[in-house]
Amino acid sequence: MDKVFVNETGNATPESKQLGLYIHIPFCKQACHYCDFHFSTSLGKKKELVDALCKELVLRKDEIAGVVQTIYFGGGTPSLLNAEELEQIFTTIAANFNIGKNPEITLEANPDDLTEEKLVIFANSKINRLSIGVQSFFEEDLKLMNRAHNATEAVKSLELAKKYFDNISIDLIYGMPEMSDDRWKKNLDQAIALDIPHISSYALTVEPNTALYKFIEKGVVKPVDDAVAQAHFEILIDRMQLEGFENYEFSNFGRQGYFSQNNTAYWTGKSYLGIGPSAHSYDGSVRSWNINNNPKYIEEIQSNKLPIERESLSVTDKYNEYVMTGLRTIWGISLDHIKINFGIKYKEYAVEQAKKHIEAHLLFVDGERILVTKKGKFLSDGLASDLFLINLS
Ligand code: SF4
Repeated sequence: MDKVFVNETGNATPESKQLGLYIHIPFCKQACHYCDFHFSTSLGKKKELVDALCKELVLRKDEIAGVVQTIYFGGGTPSLLNAEELEQIFTTIAANFNIGKNPEITLEANPDDLTEEKLVIFANSKINRLSIGVQSFFEEDLKLMNRAHNATEAVKSLELAKKYFDNISIDLIYGMPEMSDDRWKKNLDQAIALDIPHISSYALTVEPNTALYKFIEKGVVKPVDDAVAQAHFEILIDRMQLEGFENYEFSNFGRQGYFSQNNTAYWTGKSYLGIGPSAHSYDGSVRSWNINNNPKYIEEIQSNKLPIERESLSVTDKYNEYVMTGLRTIWGISLDHIKINFGIKYKEYAVEQAKKHIEAHLLFVDGERILVTKKGKFLSDGLASDLFLINLS
């Protein structure tokens, strides 16, 4: 099948600026207990929403210059889209954007949606990568999280998905209440046995305004324990290393050739245009975000208005973001990059702040780069904030 996505405006050169497109599909079958993303369980307005997404794509086609190298359908649950809706979105993108030669096109999918019929639809579209929200292969965990799929569907969906896609990522959550080390190890065994080339793995976090938060407050569910999460993270990084995966970002593990191009572009400060309710965009200087309300979003877009708020980033904001994202990756932060893009004072500040962490073997220096050691990994957010600048005067 033809996976090459071409359009008539395609004139990418090696110097062309890279652009990512993010499309937010704000619908889910049911609410997971831990989730604080923007979504609605009422699917009645799905068609209007897709029409609005397409209209927003047209309204914002010239907002950020660049050649589209990645397209990411996130949510919510993008696997709820049908063949016509996907086609409508791809046709709109092709007619309005300059698309690179072989863009990575990812769709987030939930296991309960991945029937053979649905996988054929996805495989026949431009999608060439699936990110599947497995979260756990155990019934107890899936019930606690209120996921829409069960443990059997988790395995079956991956076996089926592998028939149609080579580039597959799964999400797994660790540090859940009642999740023993042994159960976490068995989750990893299952992922390895299924030969999945990319794993994104996150500690369960308890966000305010979620059902999980209330259950913990009422004592119905045990609170999460940071020490358990850290132990699970250590099990994860040791096992993934043993299996030949690169821990190329704190939460992401990929075999060579399977790193997420979309996420890597984000972590390395590339521009992206976010379409749909609650979607964020970044053009290198300005960050913006759409309203997180489906009916209001549709209404505004239908009347040719963009329901967007914007914030200009200062040099210090950009430096802080660079440090935050860079220290989470295997590429670390470049002192040359800091000097060129933010100024010598920022470089001197970073070097000075890093000193004590280098002595404590939490950070190390490789040429002109500063990176996090294995010992420092679980602390990388704290290490980054120690290098942040509040005000350089
Ligand atoms: S499927 Fe994803 S977006 Fe939807 S409620 Fe669950 S975690 Fe949130």
